[in-house]
Amino acid sequence: MTTAEPVDELVSNTPPDKPKKDKAEPPKERRVRDPIPEDQLEHRQLRDGEWWREIPAFEDVDAEQFNDHIWQMRNSVYGEDSLIENLEGLAPPGFVEDVREGFHKAPMAVRITPYIFSLIDWDNPWEDPLRLQFLPIASRLSPDHPMLTLDSLHEQADAPVDGLTHRYPDKALFLVLDTCPVYCRFCTRSYAIGVDTDTVEKVQLKVSPERWEEGFDYIEQHPELEDIVISGGDTYNMPAKHLRNIGERLLKMDNIRRIRFATKGLAVMPMKVLSDDKWLDAMQDLCDLGREMHKEVAIHTHFNHPKEATAISKRAMERLFERGIKVRNQCVLQRGVNDSIETMKLLTKRLSEINVQPYYVYQHDMVKGVEDLRTSVQTNIDIEKAVRGVTAGFNTSTHVVDAPGGGGKRDVHSYEYYNRETGVSVYQAPSVKPGEYFTYFDPLHSLSESVQQDWRDPDKQEEMVEQALEAAKDRDHQRI
Ligand SMILES: *Cc1c(COP(=O)(O)O)cnc(C)c1O
Ligand code: SF4
Repeated sequence: MTTAEPVDELVSNTPPDKPKKDKAEPPKERRVRDPIPEDQLEHRQLRDGEWWREIPAFEDVDAEQFNDHIWQMRNSVYGEDSLIENLEGLAPPGFVEDVREGFHKAPMAVRITPYIFSLIDWDNPWEDPLRLQFLPIASRLSPDHPMLTLDSLHEQADAPVDGLTHRYPDKALFLVLDTCPVYCRFCTRSYAIGVDTDTVEKVQLKVSPERWEEGFDYIEQHPELEDIVISGGDTYNMPAKHLRNIGERLLKMDNIRRIRFATKGLAVMPMKVLSDDKWLDAMQDLCDLGREMHKEVAIHTHFNHPKEATAISKRAMERLFERGIKVRNQCVLQRGVNDSIETMKLLTKRLSEINVQPYYVYQHDMVKGVEDLRTSVQTNIDIEKAVRGVTAGFNTSTHVVDAPGGGGKRDVHSYEYYNRETGVSVYQAPSVKPGEYFTYFDPLHSLSESVQQDWRDPDKQEEMVEQALEAAKDRDHQRI
């Protein structure tokens, strides 16, 4: 074109309507946030100093000794006699008897590290969030929900080889040993973990290179498996040599892209990371080898309460961070421990502070002997809503229900149907077991008196379960 003609003359003779422009007005009022004084940023205030000296048994223990993992293991409170001996003169009158009685009814053995033992508030052990997790007491036990079974997640039914659960299409859970540095009252694997108790005779999943070999063969024969969770038990209790062998064996399989080592150890005995160089070096070498092969190696740990993270934990996590070892957290929502919005906000922020990434918050599994610790699904939903937004999205946990019966983890909000009156929620798991329905039951103590009565009547039990399943199926049909 040689001459420039006005564009609108080419199209029409009338000028087009000019689009109206939005004019950005300055806001009439601005929200100004006052700086929050440092001393109110509670997540950064990690317990420091030699607090353990307040416990008579640890009065003369200096920091060097307390920070030594071998000292921690040797001085762990283990079994009834050592427990009672440590409590005499420390816990209030009445508490020792309460524990002695609780101990005989519990499905899990008792083992507590000096670190955790020293963080319990012995002036009020009944309410203490750490006591609640590790020490059973008779006065607070409530009867199990009638729909509860010993291996509620059906880990054994989904296990082609002892200790190897293959439930999801591309990932598997490998239980390589059955001991832990502590025993949690609420352990999902109370069917296997720790020594037998008065109430449970356990399945054995001992350290056994022969059993592992069967697991490795299975993993190799299933090219679709890419992601292995190595758990137990607790990989903290795995000698460095075995850790290295298992990690290397898996990383060298072409199909494996990701492995994670599960350990509660970081939360209950951070000293190992500070003083067991052999174990830490093995873990780092595996991470480095993985990185070279473009495969991910990470640690998944289990902090449940902000009190568990101290200045010692921070130093331990910094050591892992410096060595490029990624740590994520899987926490269990528990009544009286962390079922409050404030506690979970603080835990989320504090974990971020020590470079641990909050990954999951689990609805408490339906585990025997710990009904007092379960919450309703609604409590979980309310907490998720309040916590989301307090910090980076990538440091905010997904809240899940591990569907009883082997449905796998489901977002707690994704129920097909939830009857808050009977406490029955129904989930589906299309990628795991298509077409099946899975039910979770709120603990009886969260329900009304009359509904609690109904749960004691076998006919009404069936009715309540049927009602929820029918409602879930109806909803499903309406959608199609
Ligand atoms: C939790 C779990 C996994 C890992 O699941 P993610 O959602 O990837 O953390 C794998 N297998 C089993 C049986 C599990 O319970
Ligand atoms: S550390 Fe894990 S596997 Fe061991 S008792 Fe606690 S919840 Fe169970």
